Amino acid sequence: MPMEKFDVLIIGSGLGGLICGNILSREGMRVAIVEKERQPGGNLRSFTRHGQKFETGVHYTGSLEPGQTLFRYWKYLGLTDALPLQKLDRSGFDRISFGDQEFPLAQGFGNFAEQLLPYFPDAAAELKRYTHKVAEVASAFPLYNLELPVNHQEHHYTNKSAFEFFQTFAHILSSNGRHVVSSASSSSCIPLSAVLAGNNFLYGGHPQTPLHVSSLISHSFISSACRIIGGSDQIAVSLANRFNSTGGTILVNREVTRIDRQGQQFSVITSNGETCHSSRIISDIHPSVALSLLPGGMVRPAYRKRIDSLDNTVSSFILHLSLKPGSFPYLNHNCYYHHSPDPWNECHLTGRQWPGMFLLTTACQHPGQEFAETMTILTYMQYGEVAAWRETRTGQRGAAYEDFKSERAEKLLQLVFHRFPELQGAISRTDISTPLTYRDYTGIPEGSLYGIRKNYLEPMITTILPGTKIADFYFTGQNTNLHGLLGVTIGAVATCGEIVGLKYLLEKIKGA
Ligand SMILES: Cc1cc2nc3c(=O)[nH]c(=O)nc-3n(C[C@H](O)[C@H](O)[C@H](O)COP(=O)(O)OP(=O)(O)OC[C@H]3O[C@@H](n4cnc5c(N)ncnc54)[C@H](O)[C@@H]3O)c2cc1C
Repeated sequence: MPMEKFDVLIIGSGLGGLICGNILSREGMRVAIVEKERQPGGNLRSFTRHGQKFETGVHYTGSLEPGQTLFRYWKYLGLTDALPLQKLDRSGFDRISFGDQEFPLAQGFGNFAEQLLPYFPDAAAELKRYTHKVAEVASAFPLYNLELPVNHQEHHYTNKSAFEFFQTFAHILSSNGRHVVSSASSSSCIPLSAVLAGNNFLYGGHPQTPLHVSSLISHSFISSACRIIGGSDQIAVSLANRFNSTGGTILVNREVTRIDRQGQQFSVITSNGETCHSSRIISDIHPSVALSLLPGGMVRPAYRKRIDSLDNTVSSFILHLSLKPGSFPYLNHNCYYHHSPDPWNECHLTGRQWPGMFLLTTACQHPGQEFAETMTILTYMQYGEVAAWRETRTGQRGAAYEDFKSERAEKLLQLVFHRFPELQGAISRTDISTPLTYRDYTGIPEGSLYGIRKNYLEPMITTILPGTKIADFYFTGQNTNLHGLLGVTIGAVATCGEIVGLKYLLEKIKGA
């Protein structure tokens, strides 16, 4: 489609790109989304192996019940009626295990404290303190409450440490945990701090994670937690269909390789040699990659240097398992297992110390499912572990890489079998992804899980604003605002607010 002209051109069709496309197209703008892959969706996409479908970058979500934050945003986008949902166990949507002991994280703020109380019988007041703080932080972020940011109360929390907050619960020890592996005999006390941070894989828990990152994400899941029956790719399909029906254009199989500017117009050049013109650009890709597409003179060196210097969240190593029919139950919750009660150190582990944790989740194919058909097991992996193959491409990485994958898969499975011995013998096929898989799949540097890592010590520097130093060039997606379905949705609204006016847009969303 050479020499097409658009009002807005969006680079990348992840959730952020698709939502921006939907909003701006509904506002009457001529919008195109340019995507390097065959299918739109980025991390929302699924893949199929031997008839089994696997999700790649979304396994569950929060706050999708009527009146809750994501529900209110998605109602405006027409998503709430389009997605079949499976509510996760109310008494424990996430279960946190240390060795043979397991603790539930429940839905509902009162219920959250109530379900943990039997394990920490003297901690009623402290559990209340935890849920109150999570709610207090969430209420200070106007866009999480569909309000216009005015008085910047959120700054009170962006420079606070999540780790330090959790440490204030370290002196409270469990009196017991539910014993989940009968053959194991250890029953050491587990600190409440480790249980509360036990699902911090959700935000790539790091000693520098700001308090608001953990609190906003926890708030969303404690409010309510669910899976999308049949897979989260339906979010992408629904948004893409709506975008097309409002006149939007999605150009797939086109990697943006260069952006030029003549006067008020951007020229976007793609890998197949086509050029599109646009008055505005929104980048849904990693900011460093986006800036590298612009000619030197268009970006101030100090701005480029600042963005390039930011650290990314750690990457992941993932097993996608096909299971023998009727061999393993469908689990209506997620299992986080930790080798030791130190969830803040696990992202750093490499070599012989790896892995320190895993998240195990079974996909929901249909309501009332008795047995799991597929399972995904995720753990952290540093990019350095696979850096030897950094110059290679998918399918052509060589025998040493395949050996590395097999050896690490075996090591991870040994940890998994400790918690789920019944899984041995239930696996019919294993597919593996590494940091390189994600790097090549979504174009994210070093295969990072969630993009730029926020740092409470440098909140301003590690926060990427939607408006940039380049006129009519905007950022969206997980690197602005926050990652995850909720974070990216809110970020996309903030980005479009820069173009059509945030007050006006929020009124429309609230009125939907
Ligand atoms: C393993 C994993 C598990 C996760 N689990 C959950 C979960 O359970 N719940 C949850 O809420 N969140 C989860 N997340 C986070 C969530 O998936 C992401 O935060 C979110 O989907 C990111 O959306 P995005 O719009 O920022 O972009 P992305 O999904 O990164 O999409 C970017 C798009 O840009 C395209 N692109 C890149 N470069 C170019 C180029 N030069 N030209 C054209 N196109 C380009 C890519 O192909 C891609 O389609 C998970 C993430 C990962 C990695």
